[in-house]
Amino acid sequence: MSIWSCEIMCSNCGNTESVHNSLSEISDVAKRWGSFGGALYCPKCAATWHERNKKPMSDYENTFTVIFFKMIRRYNEQQEVSNDSPKD
Ligand SMILES: [Zn+2]
Repeated sequence: MSIWSCEIMCSNCGNTESVHNSLSEISDVAKRWGSFGGALYCPKCAATWHERNKKPMSDYENTFTVIFFKMIRRYNEQQEVSNDSPKD
């Protein structure tokens, strides 16, 4: 099984973090990062979210889902690339 990872980016400051393909790692990152709808926020920007916005962030389940679907999309892209390679 190949190891692959996905980079997530903060929608506010552009900070990135690599997440590897394990549910425990996605869960760990989702506990530290925050989200609002489909946008992700790094731990630093999640901590100051309330100073910048008047509404609460999305919950942990939403953050987990956003990261999880980003990884699935990244995985599908990699599959397409390898399918495009010449066969012989
Ligand atoms: Zn940030």
